Amino acid sequence: PSGSEPATKIVINLERLQQLPADKVGPLARYAAAIQSQRGDYNGKVLSIRAEDLRSLAIIYDMSPGELTDQLIEWGVLPQEARPAHRVD
Ligand code: C2E
Ligand code: C2E
Ligand code: C2E
Repeated sequence: PSGSEPATKIVINLERLQQLPADKVGPLARYAAAIQSQRGDYNGKVLSIRAEDLRSLAIIYDMSPGELTDQLIEWGVLPQEARPAHRVD
């Protein structure tokens, strides 16, 4: 793919996340659950997280932040629009 740039605005689709197998999304699901718990934010269909957290998650998944962004889009956890355009004319 032509992506491999990190997402700029990270809004995780929590419903989609729940549908995916735990062996793939386990670390991400636990991370999201921890943030929900810290915020007391339990009722959302989506969860906005920090750009810094994407970098931490990328280390956990042994990918670059850009590669993890592509993976999350492929899983349907992030929307296509999360991948920044290469060029803005
Ligand atoms: P904290 O980092 O000391 O942030 C305290 C409060 O500042 C947060 O309370 C929130 O009201 C506000 N805040 C900080 N950064 C942002 C931001 O980028 N956007 C917005 N809208 N508000 C911000 P809150 O939400 O109850 O979170 C409590 C604590 O939980 C935070 O303390 C932090 O330690 C942790 N936390 C919450 N959400 C995240 C997250 O997405 N990533 C990380 N790494 N930690 C988080
Ligand atoms: P938005 O950022 O496009 O978010 C749209 C809706 O997605 C939000 O509507 C909310 O229902 C959901 N959403 C996004 N992130 C989260 C999340 O981390 N947790 C939960 N539970 N829901 C989330 P809502 O709440 O009516 O907010 C409407 C708009 O108001 C937002 O559009 C944003 O532009 C602004 N807004 C709300 N809260 C914040 C905030 O903490 N920081 C900033 N900068 N803007 C906010
Ligand atoms: P947002 O609330 O629209 O914040 C956009 C950016 O403004 C954040 O990007 C961060 O760079 C900066 N910012 C906002 N509030 C604070 C703050 O209290 N302290 C500092 N140091 N910076 C702040 P970032 O970090 O990538 O976060 C993206 C989105 O994730 C935030 O959008 C918010 O929706 C959510 N978020 C991040 N941390 C928290 C948090 O602690 N609590 C809550 N409720 N939401 C958070």
